[in-house]
Amino acid sequence: MQSLFYEIPGLPCPHRTLASAPFPMKTNEQFQQHVLPTYGRFPLAPVRGNGARLWDENGKSYLDFCMGIAVCSLGHCHPRLVEAIRQQAGELIHVSNLYQIPLQAELASEINTHHVKLPGRVFFSNSGAEANDGLIKSARRFGHKHPQPDGSPRFEVLTFRQSFHGRTLGSMAATGQAKIQEGFDPLLPGFRYLPYNDVTSLENAVRPETVAILLEPVQGEGGVHAATPEFLRALADLCRKHDLLLFFDEVQAGFGRCGDSMAWRMIAPEIQPDGISWAKGMGGGVPIGAFWLGERPVDENGATLASLMGPGSHGSTYGGNPLVCATSLEVLREIREKELAIHALHQEVRIRETIRQWHLPIVTEVRGIGLLLGIGLDPSMIPVPEGKNPALVVVSQLLERGLLVPAAGPETIRLLPPLNVTDEETDEALAIIHDVLACFCTASS
Ligand SMILES: *Cc1c(COP(=O)(O)O)cnc(C)c1O
Repeated sequence: MQSLFYEIPGLPCPHRTLASAPFPMKTNEQFQQHVLPTYGRFPLAPVRGNGARLWDENGKSYLDFCMGIAVCSLGHCHPRLVEAIRQQAGELIHVSNLYQIPLQAELASEINTHHVKLPGRVFFSNSGAEANDGLIKSARRFGHKHPQPDGSPRFEVLTFRQSFHGRTLGSMAATGQAKIQEGFDPLLPGFRYLPYNDVTSLENAVRPETVAILLEPVQGEGGVHAATPEFLRALADLCRKHDLLLFFDEVQAGFGRCGDSMAWRMIAPEIQPDGISWAKGMGGGVPIGAFWLGERPVDENGATLASLMGPGSHGSTYGGNPLVCATSLEVLREIREKELAIHALHQEVRIRETIRQWHLPIVTEVRGIGLLLGIGLDPSMIPVPEGKNPALVVVSQLLERGLLVPAAGPETIRLLPPLNVTDEETDEALAIIHDVLACFCTASS
């Protein structure tokens, strides 16, 4: 198995060694033999979690600021979540969308009333990629309803460089990163990638076939970059001018992580998008995603955008089953009732202030909003084995010291703690990060 974990010769870091926790050979062999090698995996097999902490099979504990990549928004095994899953599992786990699922309606109503706060309707998927596929299909429906001057449908969706929208054929084509698409061409046609946060590039961006714009209000995987208010407003203007749909991919940023239930509201709150996609944090760990369409009128007979996705237009066998809806409802209620979005903002201030006081030359900047934060690193200060990603070198060192964080591209480590993380946990994580980054500074001076 390809391991991302390696020694860095000459790095004088005080190691908290993994010697007590050898990666179990049985797991290793079974992985190699039976699991497709699509992931580079760290040699850590967590077996238990509680709040912001994980334990491996040897009882060694880790502070988890990865949280399943922004999925476990309430931390691991939150009692309210565990209870909701237990109770629903004993009552009804799955029933087809051929029938009424009251919990689905209740969850959609929670989302519309308390989170989106705009008139619209929700479709439930199982992942973020599927949610984005749903938005792309909706854009094409709209493009048939409002076609080009010659009557042919509009279909092109503008997305952005360094974006990430998922791994399905549709969402991969929407993703503006060549490395994600490598070897999978021909790609689904109908996407063009513009530079993110570049207002001037929008001037001649729209063609007759263009029908929608899809973007992350805060790019996550692509290095943690927040959209500027000017950029979002320019996009909204462009959409009004050219009859385009404006879609926000809130899969990573949504439901409280960025300090408001919806990340775009932290940037340009007056904007009313036509579509939104979610997944990750909305289920706290159960597989659920969703997309939302607004009620923008599309003809004189009262049809709206949401109504274009009528019976037969889309579906998912699992999508929005009772188990995941019951769970997601409790996650969203907990986030709302405990005001965890506000809490995320307080933690952001704490993190930024602490890092500022370090004055470590390896830190180039802190980016992002709320608890979707990226620490930008100077790669020249990181001794990188040939062909390795500098940020992953730092991530490995942090893992060894007992802190889990994901990278975001080659020069950024990401902080994705649970939304209810405590001051003490934040300080503990920051202390580990400080020690490891300080080592790199010493090593390269
Ligand atoms: C993770 C992610 C996706 C894909 O979600 P999956 O559940 O992995 O399909 C899409 N968009 C954004 C912004 C993401 O961060």
